[in-house]
Amino acid sequence: MRMIIFGPPGSGKGTYASRLVGILGVPHISTGDLVREEIRMQTEVGRIAKQYVERGELVPDDIIISLLVKRLQKPDAERGFILDGFPRTIGQAKFLEENFKIDLVINLVVPDELIIQRLSNRLICKICGAIYNRLTLKPKVDEICDVCGGELYQREDDKPEVIRERLKVYRVNTEPLINYYREKKILRDIYCEDLTIPPEIIVKKILEAIDEMKKK
Ligand code: AMP
Repeated sequence: MRMIIFGPPGSGKGTYASRLVGILGVPHISTGDLVREEIRMQTEVGRIAKQYVERGELVPDDIIISLLVKRLQKPDAERGFILDGFPRTIGQAKFLEENFKIDLVINLVVPDELIIQRLSNRLICKICGAIYNRLTLKPKVDEICDVCGGELYQREDDKPEVIRERLKVYRVNTEPLINYYREKKILRDIYCEDLTIPPEIIVKKILEAIDEMKKK
């Protein structure tokens, strides 16, 4: 199974993809995570990428594609993958098309107001990466991770002014890709218009879309 999850920043791509890993037996590959790891490791690529990430802009295609190629060479990606945050430009989609057959593209449809509300309240554990939300998924103890006791923090690019820029970038660069995959008839829309919909419900809808695709 080779699938892509599309959706604006904060639409829950990472949350749903990580739940699908155990069910589908393929890795969740987030190019945002790959970039953040380079930044954390203070590599040369990380140093260049950081300037784009901090402004909410896209990292150049050649950098992102080379990070992805490196990740796809690991043995766990042989059986397939769930891509999150890639492709984000037509150039990246062309790269995929030339190298892989994509089975299904999920498009999460979420209104902008919900995104801003969700991201500006998102908290992440510094140690294990678990995701919380000040409104919808509060930790038991303020600012402390339920899982590992780590301190929670807000991502630099989850500040309201950067969120607005990321949404603008998403609309301009990535939405044309939705039409690209729609025309190929491998795209399914999944509507998430309420922040309180439990992740299991959305995951169930995605699994139904996978079943439908397999029947074809
Ligand atoms: P994300 O965690 O997917 O929201 O990504 C965080 C940031 O990493 C984005 O705002 C971009 O600066 C960069 N990034 C992640 N994936 C890509 C991609 N496919 N193309 C370009 N930049 C990316």
